[in-house]
Amino acid sequence: MSETGATTGAATAAMTADAIVVGSGVIGSAVALELARGGRSVLVIDKAAGPGHGSTSASSAVIRFMYSTFEGVATSWESKFCWEQWADHLGVARLPEPERPALARFHRTGMLHLDVPAVPRERSMDLLRAAGVPFEDLTPDELTARFPHLDGGAYWPNKPIADDAFWEETSRRLGAVYTPDAGYMDDPRLAADNLAVAARLHGARTEYRAQVVAAERRGTVWHLDLADGRRAEAPVVVNAAGPWSGAFNALAGVGAEFTVGVRPLRQEVHQVTQPAGYGSDAEPGPGIFDIDLGTYMRPGPQQAWVVGGTEPACDPMEWLSDPDAVDQHVTTARYEAQVTRAARRLPDLRVPNRPSGVVGVYDVADDWTPIYDRTDADGFYVAIGTSGNQFKNAPLAGCFLAAIVEACENGVDHDAVPVTYVGIHTGLKIDLGAFSRKREVNAASTRTVLG
Ligand SMILES: Cc1cc2nc3c(=O)[nH]c(=O)nc-3n(C[C@H](O)[C@H](O)[C@H](O)COP(=O)(O)OP(=O)(O)OC[C@H]3O[C@@H](n4cnc5c(N)ncnc54)[C@H](O)[C@@H]3O)c2cc1C
Repeated sequence: MSETGATTGAATAAMTADAIVVGSGVIGSAVALELARGGRSVLVIDKAAGPGHGSTSASSAVIRFMYSTFEGVATSWESKFCWEQWADHLGVARLPEPERPALARFHRTGMLHLDVPAVPRERSMDLLRAAGVPFEDLTPDELTARFPHLDGGAYWPNKPIADDAFWEETSRRLGAVYTPDAGYMDDPRLAADNLAVAARLHGARTEYRAQVVAAERRGTVWHLDLADGRRAEAPVVVNAAGPWSGAFNALAGVGAEFTVGVRPLRQEVHQVTQPAGYGSDAEPGPGIFDIDLGTYMRPGPQQAWVVGGTEPACDPMEWLSDPDAVDQHVTTARYEAQVTRAARRLPDLRVPNRPSGVVGVYDVADDWTPIYDRTDADGFYVAIGTSGNQFKNAPLAGCFLAAIVEACENGVDHDAVPVTYVGIHTGLKIDLGAFSRKREVNAASTRTVLG
């Protein structure tokens, strides 16, 4: 049953809107909210049963501020204020209590970015300074004095855990850049749901269990066919289809001009218990971004410790041709590889025999930087290539797409003179040309989930 109450069947009239957003993950839901806020009638279509059931549901939802470009850093810093003031960002703070939805919550834990050659320290600190992100520059002595339960050894380059070299001792030591304002959102799927609720408060309609199987532009209107025979029409379509984004572009005949491609990549994130001594129940230790050992980790509620990977070149990458064909079961091999890397850094971490965690799929762009842009097909926009690192930037991704749609639909040549977005919390000016589909591939990218 659709939430709009629309009837189904091939004979019924097409659903119409000013803009159709395909995908109701955290990105599509944010785009829908901002388009609706801007006064457009919006229709969101998703093949899943509700918002955030795609890759968003598996997200570690880490909120951190280190990227390889100024625009990446500025976007994450501006977005942090949206997460912190989530009810205000959504526009639900003044709703009477019974009408206010349960909200996802931001937890401030801090993040340690351990040194690694792929992320030049001076450049990283320059970018943080330029965006006004508070940080501390910790020497190796300061790092281990402050976090004595953390092994401060430098082990780069990454090695397979089955290789004896992985266990070799080292006399080289790491420093870190510590950003105390980092943290995580405690429920990524709920965050997408919150955005969808907020979009509906602005009049957006949402259709779930509705798969788009064809897309064609006739005249100035995009015509979408759904698997159940229904149709939808709008002059503006936004591809926010997550790991299915490449397939949806192909379906619409879009993408020939892109210099940056996207590909789905299978990922696992594992859950263990917070290591004793590294922080306390009341105040868990900060998250750790550790490309030196090929892992990232963060605390979670109820003493959880979430462990993901940073694509160590020595471990196989699981590229997919079809995100729907992904094996949804956590594997012992991947679990052991990731959690052992984490335990090398935090020797008190206990590694249970039985793997526990989630499987998800990244929509990886060639340079691990998202594509927020128009396309050469008029009226067709993309919010794709989120590369395992854009949950945190979703509030701004919505604002970016709304700004780009508004400009392009009013005749602005965004390719020639890219739109600038000015953050309402930070005043930072963000050149949206940095997320162009026709950009030069970002050479500073770590080509990992860091971006
Ligand atoms: C394991 C994992 C860990 C992550 N950790 C972090 C993190 O710590 N911090 C961070 O910032 N980011 C993280 N990310 C990245 C972040 O979660 C994603 O960038 C973000 O969730 C992508 O959202 P989305 O809306 O683009 O995609 P999705 O959530 O995948 O939404 C796309 C939607 O499109 C729908 N769809 C697709 N094709 C069609 C069609 N033809 N018709 C109808 N509907 C369609 C799908 O059903 C789906 O619901 C992580 C991602 C994963 C997988």
